[in-house]
Amino acid sequence: MKEIKRIGVLTSGGDAPGMNAAIRAVARTASYYNIDCLGVRRGYNGLINGDVTELDARSVNGIISSGGTILYTARCPEFLTEEGMKKAVCTCRYLGIDGIIAIGGDGTFRGAKDLAEQGIPTIGVPATIDNDIASTHYSIGFDTACNTALDAIDKLRDTMQSHQRCSVVEVMGRHAGHLALYVGIACGAQAILVPEKTLDFDKDVIEKIRDGIINKRSHYIIIVAEGVGNAIEVAERVASQTGIDTRITILGHIQRGGTPTARDRVMASRMGEFAVRTLLEGKTNRVVCSVNSELIDIDIAEALAMKKNLHEKMYETSKIMAV
Ligand code: ADP
Repeated sequence: MKEIKRIGVLTSGGDAPGMNAAIRAVARTASYYNIDCLGVRRGYNGLINGDVTELDARSVNGIISSGGTILYTARCPEFLTEEGMKKAVCTCRYLGIDGIIAIGGDGTFRGAKDLAEQGIPTIGVPATIDNDIASTHYSIGFDTACNTALDAIDKLRDTMQSHQRCSVVEVMGRHAGHLALYVGIACGAQAILVPEKTLDFDKDVIEKIRDGIINKRSHYIIIVAEGVGNAIEVAERVASQTGIDTRITILGHIQRGGTPTARDRVMASRMGEFAVRTLLEGKTNRVVCSVNSELIDIDIAEALAMKKNLHEKMYETSKIMAV
């Protein structure tokens, strides 16, 4: 086993609040163990092009509270090619990078696995606002994204209540409804549309609103995960079938930004530190996972093969709360 003297850290794929806190944790842990740390810019592109910057304990001052990522993030189609992978491995050898910490989602981990297979020790750290990585109960960014959405919906509620309207709010989540479900429960939505569940629209949405009208409810909130379909169509159906004045809000990229919450900062600090220690223990091709609040490392291929279901009990709770 080669001694680790210098590591690289990169952020890749979709950005998530708390990525900076994770970069800081990696740089500080490297400094603690007296190893060099290089920040690799624009995800795997930086590995291909040798676009790196030195990170020491002080160069990450003040970033724990900032959203986005100081290393930038990007998709990198070239990394999927044999040529691109060769260049990335060459850069690692040339710069003396003995291990890589890759912060991102499932796509980033697929890249990390490929890199590990080429002999570069690699550890993945989960960061995605969708919280859709099956091997870990929690991914960095989810809590901040939920709170950002909630903050916006609380403001919407004030105006919906004043006018006795229905608000259809589209939140992110192309393939997973975890964010929609969490936000929906937290804002007291009458209905939550997620890709994992098929709703009986007439029974689960329209009838509920009609009941609300009879019971003199002042306003309605419907949460739609972007993967389910179109918030505009949902709103049109609600308006035409109930007569309620309906408004649409698509929260979009606002959910990716902002100051990370305490939960995301702490999780990023713990996961970043754990990832460096995992590398130093001589491990490779592992992903850091939070399981029942403890951190463990799992083989990346095993992690990628897992499937994450929607939290059934939480979904039941959402229905009971919307009675
Ligand atoms: P996320 O990490 O948020 O899921 P992406 O799916 O866009 O984001 O993946 C980020 C990057 O990871 C891609 O641009 C590519 O460079 C790399 N990547 C994704 N899938 C693979 C793969 N199958 N093999 C190698 N690299 C991959």
